[in-house]
Amino acid sequence: MAKAKLIKYVYLFGNKQADGNGSMKTLLGGKGANLAEMCLLGIPVPAGFTVSTECCTAYYAGGCKLPAVLTNQVLDALHKTEKIMGKKYGDPENPLLVSCRSGARSSMPGMMDTVLNVGLSTATIPGMVKKTNNPRFVWDSYRRLIMMYADVVMEKAEGLDPAEGKGIRKIMDERLDQFKHQRGCASDTDLKAEDLQQLADDFKALVKKHLGKAFPDDPMAQLWGGIAAVFKSWNGKKAVSYRRIEGIPDDWGTAVNVQAMVFGNMGDSSATGVAFTRDPATGEDKFYGEWLVNAQGEDVVAGIRTPSPINDDTKNEQNKHLKSMQVAMPATYKQLFAIRNTLEKNYHDMLDIEFTIEEGKLWMLQCRVGKRTGTAALNMAMDMLAERMIDQETAVLRLDPKQLDELLHPIIDPKAEKDAKPLVKGLPAGPGAACGKLVFTAEDAVASAKAGQKCILIREETNPEDVEGMRAAVGIMTARGGMTSHAALVARGWGKCCIVGAGGLHVDAASKTAKVTGSDVVLKEGDVVTLNGTRGYVYVGSLAMIDASENPRFQKFMTMADKFRTMGVRTNADTPADAAVAKSFGAEGIGLFRTEHMFYGEGCDKPLFLLRKMILSTTLDERRKALGELLPFVKASIKGTMEAMGGLPVTIRLLDPPLHEFVPQGAEKQAELAAALGITAEEIHKRGEELHENNPMMGHRGVRLGVTYPEVTEMQARAIFEAAAELIKSGTKCKPEIMIPVTCDVSELKHQKAIIAGVQAAVCKELGIKAFPYMVGTMIEIPRAALLADRMAQEAEFFSFGTNDLTQMSFGFSRDDIGSFLPDYLSKKLLPADPFQTIDQDGVGQLIKMAVEKGRATREHLKVGICGEQGGDPASVNFCHRTGLTYVSCSPFRVPLARLAAAQAAIEEKRQAKKAKPAKKK
Ligand code: PEP
Ligand code: MG
Repeated sequence: MAKAKLIKYVYLFGNKQADGNGSMKTLLGGKGANLAEMCLLGIPVPAGFTVSTECCTAYYAGGCKLPAVLTNQVLDALHKTEKIMGKKYGDPENPLLVSCRSGARSSMPGMMDTVLNVGLSTATIPGMVKKTNNPRFVWDSYRRLIMMYADVVMEKAEGLDPAEGKGIRKIMDERLDQFKHQRGCASDTDLKAEDLQQLADDFKALVKKHLGKAFPDDPMAQLWGGIAAVFKSWNGKKAVSYRRIEGIPDDWGTAVNVQAMVFGNMGDSSATGVAFTRDPATGEDKFYGEWLVNAQGEDVVAGIRTPSPINDDTKNEQNKHLKSMQVAMPATYKQLFAIRNTLEKNYHDMLDIEFTIEEGKLWMLQCRVGKRTGTAALNMAMDMLAERMIDQETAVLRLDPKQLDELLHPIIDPKAEKDAKPLVKGLPAGPGAACGKLVFTAEDAVASAKAGQKCILIREETNPEDVEGMRAAVGIMTARGGMTSHAALVARGWGKCCIVGAGGLHVDAASKTAKVTGSDVVLKEGDVVTLNGTRGYVYVGSLAMIDASENPRFQKFMTMADKFRTMGVRTNADTPADAAVAKSFGAEGIGLFRTEHMFYGEGCDKPLFLLRKMILSTTLDERRKALGELLPFVKASIKGTMEAMGGLPVTIRLLDPPLHEFVPQGAEKQAELAAALGITAEEIHKRGEELHENNPMMGHRGVRLGVTYPEVTEMQARAIFEAAAELIKSGTKCKPEIMIPVTCDVSELKHQKAIIAGVQAAVCKELGIKAFPYMVGTMIEIPRAALLADRMAQEAEFFSFGTNDLTQMSFGFSRDDIGSFLPDYLSKKLLPADPFQTIDQDGVGQLIKMAVEKGRATREHLKVGICGEQGGDPASVNFCHRTGLTYVSCSPFRVPLARLAAAQAAIEEKRQAKKAKPAKKK
């Protein structure tokens, strides 16, 4: 008990002082830590206090009860806030109002709840009216409080889940619209004080009717309700689903920020806005933002009114007729601009800020590192580096490897776009282009993606409930909202093509149609549209796409990243074309050439026919003959790919898959093969049946083929050595790396190595050349091979982790059948992620670590790589770096991503080592 009392749950900030600071995000959440930091920087911030994330954890641990020790801490902090602000909470003469806002460690835009104007009650309203001399403003604030409180505290936090369109907020919104209609008002701002007073009474009656309880009139009851509701919203549906997508742990919890209210809706000298210290879409060094006179913050974000630009420099097609803050309030704009500079100097990064002007006085309500597109991240990193605001290491860390996808994003072919007329224009909120069939609800988007169809989600405006659908869609478009609306923030964070505020659209989700102002076109579900998210244009039909062209700044950035990288990056490629693409992306060699891929796809008819002939041979003679015919094809395929790599190392894996995969099924192919072998079609069928296995993944595949049929290994080794000899002769550097798959014991390696050595001696003799160097290594993809890695390394000159099979055999999950059960493991949180996409560091990772250590204990400089799919996943690349792998190998398009992830891993390791050093001295 005594110990519990010592826990400090509440951190005060205000008047240029704070209990916390910007580095305390874990405890205070991002918002709380940054509010404290801004106070310490002398920036005007309304006073308040942060209830820590630890308190959130305690709240859940105590069965959704606020810890008892919190009461006095909150009352004490509230008292101090009152003192700083010169107002008193609940006071009838001079009342203080507060907001209760969430704030997790990492930003979750719009996913949790907020209550504003907390503290307004029948007791405090007259005092507020007297003080402000603005009854309209007070009643407007009051009706907003009732609306938010009923929605957040009384409905959502209570776990009520009304049907779509039946929630209390929607009911109140309808009442508001009806009211405006009756009074003949076009906008909320046209409503008079008496109207709003009447509306507040109506709202209270609606609360009672629909929620069965009265809206609380006691300010303290409102405050405690607000704090608990924010904690509750951490486990709200939308927050949970956002965390799952973003990989944010459930146990982090949120902080609650209770902060004195300042008002942007106190008349024409008041305003509110959101801004980015640089353009979040392009990265340009331009102060970029939106503001609204006589409004509260939620009005800007919710997209109910079209916001104005904060300066003239960043006006766009949609808002160029509106007055900027720079022109309307020049002195305040200047002050805001100075704060922008102070913040960038302090944080060395682009920030996303929220501000309010209350009767001419500027207050900062929030700042955080801003989300940005991949293009913006690249441009900002390079600009800030040139401005000496950050160093090279920091610049490299500024681009999320996953954002590279977006830099290499497809765009609409400019030639096709030149001739196309946009149906409607909106704001360019997310990059690149997207083309798909229209869907009108988030559920339809999810269903469409599940069915393998590309869809564009169209909404009047999005809200956090739409997040799963937004994720599933290839593009998003909304009729309302600005660049800082929910849809824009979320899409930008994901680098997804998105257009918001296409005001010409009138979306009717009920009939799944959208009309367009000034046009006869009615968009329907299933109609194909193309979006240009970089310009904000929507086209009917499908326009041709091209890949974004080579960007010299990107090349420069990648070259800089490479300077820090210590681990190699190779590619998995088996054709000269793939090899060339990978090389252009910076691959430093091939880590996996799958020989069998020459028997699939374009031009495979002849070699596949010969392979089948070999497989269905029953005598050694028959088989040797077929192998002899196959040799030139295998040799040409290997030589072409080695040539495309221009002397870079190439790891060629011997034939791996179960042979029955290649047995012809159709009667025509069977007859053709029968004729070639001089046997009947029935005999072909019979031989095929004999190759059938119950569990082919663990059957006659990989090295086992070479053990049963040494002549198969011989043919492949000959193809490799003859190709290499020809390349060496023509002046191309070439040192083949031959890789044996699916091994489980060193004896298998010994057996195969002897065959390979024999072939090399024979080839060199035949060609009259000196023996040239080559290596023989193995894949580590069976747990036993990892366990006995020290012995494997006695023969293997290199290892490559085949983490597809290693994961399959460690988990006992069939890699081909995982789709039927993995989604349940993920949704029930039995596994944190798909282990076939990202290495299971706890389990499979241990096998890898152990195998590296054991392998290098036998062979000190053993070259070790990875060539499973996880080799292109940033978290896995980071793991491989920490585990001391020589290289990762991934598909060609993921090579830049792996290069960057490897560079970042090296930088992080260096920084951690630096941090750890002083501690060691003690
Ligand atoms: C692996 O198992 O990880 C691997 C690369 O081999 P394959 O996917 O061809 O079985
Ligand atoms: Mg494998």
